[in-house]
Amino acid sequence: MQKDLLNSVVKITKHRDVDSLELSLLSTISEFLSPSEAALYKDLSRFNSAGIEKSASIETDKTGAIKWSSRKMIATPNKELLCCIESACTISLQDKQGNEKRWIPVIIDDQVMGAVYLVVKHLTSTEQVTLNALCRIYENYLTILNESERDKLTGLLNRQTFDRKIKQLLEDQLHSHNSPLEKGVRNKHYDESSWLAMIDIDHFKKVNDTYGHVCGDEVLLTLSQRMQQYFRSSDLIFRFGGEEFVIVFEPTTLLHIATKLAHFQDFISDQKFPFVEELTLSIGFARMSPYDFPISVIENADKALYVAKNNGRNQCVYYGDIINSENENIPPTNDIELF
Ligand code: GH3
Ligand code: MG
Ligand code: MG
Repeated sequence: MQKDLLNSVVKITKHRDVDSLELSLLSTISEFLSPSEAALYKDLSRFNSAGIEKSASIETDKTGAIKWSSRKMIATPNKELLCCIESACTISLQDKQGNEKRWIPVIIDDQVMGAVYLVVKHLTSTEQVTLNALCRIYENYLTILNESERDKLTGLLNRQTFDRKIKQLLEDQLHSHNSPLEKGVRNKHYDESSWLAMIDIDHFKKVNDTYGHVCGDEVLLTLSQRMQQYFRSSDLIFRFGGEEFVIVFEPTTLLHIATKLAHFQDFISDQKFPFVEELTLSIGFARMSPYDFPISVIENADKALYVAKNNGRNQCVYYGDIINSENENIPPTNDIELF
């Protein structure tokens, strides 16, 4: 048991991204404590009003079959979960069937980030120690991963994480595109796909020149917070470069994404920012098809952004609208600064 447990810890700490770390934690808990259910909750209210997300869960039925579920927002979190998050204490209760339900807070830098949840028949004292130790290992390792995945100033995902995730997302898309099960689903949603938007602050150099670099940093931080407030937790927001951001959206229609981005521009120009009277953004966005190379998706969004800038800024341009129009504003590919 001890040797297996140590091997599991090695496996947990092998991961280089937060998503795989979460799955690894749940599968280790499942392996050693045999819960009928284990889940990981994340409190997102620090970023937006969205509330609590169930970021992963695993259920085992009576036959021993395992079912994984992917992330989803919890419309009405139960009171034990809320109590665990608010009090930073482990909450435990027995249901009518004699099962124990337990919520353990996940605490990073003295802040409760969420909770580990499990349903078990019974936990011996040794198992309780194991569970607590696994949760603490998860917290410690999550702290390290967060530091390496995120940008220091804004807390958004950084460029290195983007490079890794975009490759992984396109591979996953290709995989589900070719799976027979997904083919049926896709026929129903044939007009949906993932999207990549590149966002650049207009005339940001002026902010630095007028108020100084430190004030510029504060504007960048405020904008990042507004972005997290506005977009959903499943939309991945990256700080791509200095005053450039990239957002990767889950599959949806062109109409929906165009409307969402246009509203976002209005939302930002209506917001108050420190020092500056008004802040505007230029946006270029492109479809992410399963057969695309990461570099070509970025290149397409960048070309659309270039057109938005050249057409007077403070606008949102879809790459699909410019490819056939022989727009003279599109730069030749080798003029675009990529990786
Ligand atoms: P455009 O509308 O064409 O995008 O004009 P711009 O001034 O926003 O673009 P330009 O590329 O000329 O300048 C970007 C500026 O962003 C220059 C640089 O000093 C500033 N910048 C980049 N990273 C940071 C940062 O981390 N903090 C601060 N304060 N400024 C930054
Ligand atoms: Mg700019
Ligand atoms: Mg720029």
